[in-house]
Amino acid sequence: MSKEKADLLSLTEGELQDWFQKMGEKKFRGSQVFEWVQKGHKSIDEMTILSKSLRDDLKKQMKVAELRIYKRFQSSMDETVKYLFDLEDGNRIEAVLMKYRHGYSLCISTQVGCAMGCKFCASTRGGLIRHLTAGEMIDQIHLVNRDKGITISNVVLMGIGEPLHNFDQVHRFLENVNHKKGLNISYRKVTLSTCGLVPEIRQLGELAIPINLAISLHAPSDEKRREIMPIAKKYTIEEVLRACREYIKSTNRRITFEYALVKDFNDQREDAEALAKRLKGMLCHVNLIPVNPIDQGSFEKPYEKRIKAFEQILEKHRIPVTVRRELGQDIDAACGQLRNQHQS
Ligand code: SAH
Repeated sequence: MSKEKADLLSLTEGELQDWFQKMGEKKFRGSQVFEWVQKGHKSIDEMTILSKSLRDDLKKQMKVAELRIYKRFQSSMDETVKYLFDLEDGNRIEAVLMKYRHGYSLCISTQVGCAMGCKFCASTRGGLIRHLTAGEMIDQIHLVNRDKGITISNVVLMGIGEPLHNFDQVHRFLENVNHKKGLNISYRKVTLSTCGLVPEIRQLGELAIPINLAISLHAPSDEKRREIMPIAKKYTIEEVLRACREYIKSTNRRITFEYALVKDFNDQREDAEALAKRLKGMLCHVNLIPVNPIDQGSFEKPYEKRIKAFEQILEKHRIPVTVRRELGQDIDAACGQLRNQHQS
């Protein structure tokens, strides 16, 4: 059964070199196979750089992860395209392609579903089904590159799932996506967003991989945060910020704090002042996201005037701030919304 087979696309170059050495072959064969799969080739049979018997051995033990495009949704307002992919086990995930002045950016999923339970988020509604493998993350990029005839230059781990809850596979993904023999996407062009898993933020900091880290803060106090994010019951904002400061120290990278603005919940003057106070002096940036309502009634977007006022208070305290441009509004581009409607 292909289920027990290891996925070539999820292995690192070192692991593939070891595999070939164990088979009595030269290490460089591992590098060749690594390059072949990371560049997007699927067929082991077509790897004619290897002998037929070696290909047969490889096929017995390994497969290459392969997703299929189930549907595309093209925005009529901008160039955003949302993709729904079928995984080999029948599960479905999504990714969003966005075009910016600096190139194409793909927002990818890291899990099927999510265990974190944030109240405003559609991705977590059915809980966590399973983690994605590193290969399934890489293949989202391959498929969109091929589908559009483009080269994606930026990747954001902000689709379905909590990336740091799937640490091992996400770590492999980061190494492989950055590899010169693979997609060769610079770490600086990769952004990982987390709801704030403190031990894993530390672990990531220790690896000193210079990606951009984004933290979903969404509230200026622990009391408010606990109302919308169950993870806040486990870690206080202070603990999250302490881990962030360590991260900045080891990577020298500026951290982004995401703050979903919810009408009459966290959009008041006092909230902005409290947030500014917390973040003062940190190498950071705040990204205000007018909340995307996922069901009737709860979590409404604040009026434009209040968003502006919130932004101005942060600016007054010299905290760099932007309001997220909302691309692909007509195609439910916010994470998790499409998967929920197209569950088989
Ligand atoms: N699990 C990661 C990635 C999730 S999605 C995390 O929590 O950071 C990326 C961002 O979108 C997160 O900041 C998430 O909180 C936010 N988000 C999710 N649902 C949203 C909604 N309905 N409106 C606005 N932002 C939302």
